[in-house]
Amino acid sequence: MKFVLFTDLDGTLLDPSDYSYDVALPVLGALKREDVPVVFCTAKTLAESEYYREELGIKDPFIVENGGAIFIPHGYFSFEFSHTVEMGDYSVIELGARYEELRRALEEIRAETGLKIIGFGDMSVDELVEEAKLSREKAKLAKDKLYNESFIFDESEDKEAILIEKVEEKGFSLTHGGRYYNIHGRGASKGKAVRILTELFREEYGAVKTIGIGDSRNDIPMLEAVEQPAVVKRRDGTWLELPSALRNLYKAKGEGPEGWIEVVEKFILGLS
Ligand SMILES: [Mg+2]
Repeated sequence: MKFVLFTDLDGTLLDPSDYSYDVALPVLGALKREDVPVVFCTAKTLAESEYYREELGIKDPFIVENGGAIFIPHGYFSFEFSHTVEMGDYSVIELGARYEELRRALEEIRAETGLKIIGFGDMSVDELVEEAKLSREKAKLAKDKLYNESFIFDESEDKEAILIEKVEEKGFSLTHGGRYYNIHGRGASKGKAVRILTELFREEYGAVKTIGIGDSRNDIPMLEAVEQPAVVKRRDGTWLELPSALRNLYKAKGEGPEGWIEVVEKFILGLS
């Protein structure tokens, strides 16, 4: 059976407090030896995803910016497939709206409601370093967005309803994962991206078994689109609450990458 692993990065493969991944390296090595594709399915940008692909030695397709686009390395699949654009070394299937449109919508919402919305595009690199506890290098990568805008919503929780309504009125969607809110195109979805890629893997390999690992709300569409969904424990000791339809959801006992290892060993490597 060909396994395909879809994985969130922040708080899942990457440690929730310091973005480290060292503990997962031996298991990533095992996946490489077993030829199991490791598909990032993340809120991160193209530039950030490329950083982690390089660091972890992963050469598989990846889904960026919460399903804004799928990047498929040239020659990865042996057949032609329909895609939107060519970008660098990739064929890209774009699902989301462009960054400029999203920035404009946020500016309008701010002007119309007075809500305190601070986008990554409103912050300097230094401010983002301070806010997100990122290195300068990583903050630059995080600002390099193509299909979504992340922002801080500096308001009480009861104001969230106004925000949601306004974003929908503008024709866009909102997700909330970890510290930040994200605005993106309605077509963008981790779930849709996972389904499209799963079809491509099926065309290449025949039957495939898909596993998805995440930790927060923006992972739900991905978890709904795989055969074996799993969540890792979060820093506060809780697990993501999921729609009851996901009956076979596995809750890893470990936090972040420790839980990630547990899921991979249990469902792919057959070690526990
Ligand atoms: Mg996460």
